[in-house]
Amino acid sequence: MRIYVCIKQVPDTSGKVAVKPDGTLDRASMSAIINPDDMSAIEHALILKDKIGCQVTAVTMGPPPAEGMLREVLAMGADDAVLISSREFGGSDTFATSQIIASAISHIGIGKDNMIFCGRQAIDGDTAQVGPQIAEKLNIPQVTYVNEISKRDNKVVVKRLLEDGYMMIEVETPCLITCVKENNVSTRYMTINGIMDCYNKPLTILDFQALKDEPLIEVNTIGLKGSPTNIFKSFTPPQKGVGVMLEGASSDTVVELVERLQKKHVI
Ligand SMILES: Cc1cc2nc3c(=O)[nH]c(=O)nc-3n(C[C@H](O)[C@H](O)[C@H](O)COP(=O)(O)OP(=O)(O)OC[C@H]3O[C@@H](n4cnc5c(N)ncnc54)[C@H](O)[C@@H]3O)c2cc1C
Repeated sequence: MRIYVCIKQVPDTSGKVAVKPDGTLDRASMSAIINPDDMSAIEHALILKDKIGCQVTAVTMGPPPAEGMLREVLAMGADDAVLISSREFGGSDTFATSQIIASAISHIGIGKDNMIFCGRQAIDGDTAQVGPQIAEKLNIPQVTYVNEISKRDNKVVVKRLLEDGYMMIEVETPCLITCVKENNVSTRYMTINGIMDCYNKPLTILDFQALKDEPLIEVNTIGLKGSPTNIFKSFTPPQKGVGVMLEGASSDTVVELVERLQKKHVI
């Protein structure tokens, strides 16, 4: 059994977020981290590896320095890694990104018992589209918003979160699952042995040349040219003003609060 885990390197938005005059993120001036939901996907894969034994393959599409992030995941316990990187892939929107990642996975091979784990959403692009699009392009079933995964015979049983509850879903492999970062799973740290070992583990680089014969890869379906998304305007939203503070614990304050909420149709 093999689990591909798609991970994205994103700017660390917990510190100062730098925005360029044109409204795009100034990624170069911000440190890079593994997308938080993807940490969850890695942890779910490593838990399954610990329980039932399987190969965990970390996959990312990004510039060459993304290798550092892949080594980190290898030090956490992944078995091998794939870096999809080429000038031709630059400028890709979610459609083209998923096209390229799906092609890379099918190039390596997706077997009957394989799974693909993604994060639910990246904290920079924020679309939550790439996981479901990869599943569509590989024509495999998908379950999104998952926070528990277990294997029962040939089926995978997952807990899918809803706004007001959850669903338990049984899905056949091969399948794609998008994982949410929830408090029930704390992600593991790299170990000293893992760090010593991570440079001995296989890391494959797949560029345009390696993937050019894949059916989904054409100049018109990748990179900026193959990206149907157009950005018309990008701006920083104005900061919200300070809220109204109602002081005192009297019944008058409660009445005023209720009136204000009713006026805004909150209650
Ligand atoms: C016109 C246009 C041009 C763009 N040009 C560039 C560019 O040149 N360089 C650039 O970095 N971005 C570029 N982007 C942004 C890029 O499209 C998105 O970062 C990317 O498609 C992922 O979308 P998202 O961040 O919304 O991810 P989501 O869909 O929110 O991510 C969901 C999950 O998919 C997986 N995933 C997403 N992206 C990757 C990845 N790269 N590798 C592995 N797994 C992944 C992860 O598991 C992630 O948690 C461009 C966007 C547009 C619209």
